[in-house]
Amino acid sequence: MFNRFLKRKAAIVENTDPDRIFVENVRSFFNIPTRWARFLCDMAVRQGILRKKYSIECGNEECGRIIKSYDRKSDIPEKIVCRTCELEGYPKFEFETDKLNIVEYYQYIENGK
Ligand SMILES: [Zn+2]
Repeated sequence: MFNRFLKRKAAIVENTDPDRIFVENVRSFFNIPTRWARFLCDMAVRQGILRKKYSIECGNEECGRIIKSYDRKSDIPEKIVCRTCELEGYPKFEFETDKLNIVEYYQYIENGK
């Protein structure tokens, strides 16, 4: 039982990018409800272990790239331009951010950097 847990833990750590930690990673890691996982992440942010990030996804389905990432929700502008879509010649490349998908995740802060 314990061995299985250790194996699982190693697999999850291996598959988790320290720059992109999702609440779901933490949830499955500790096998706890999402709400608790979110709470743990937010606590880690207050303790300076993790940094919360907000990534804006492009609204063109063919693109779907992360246009830009922000540290604070309040830093997100009202409008954003996807340079990739602009270069690709898509008719729509400027978006209102409140209509876009915002991906929330956490970054591990190494040595308080
Ligand atoms: Zn785009």
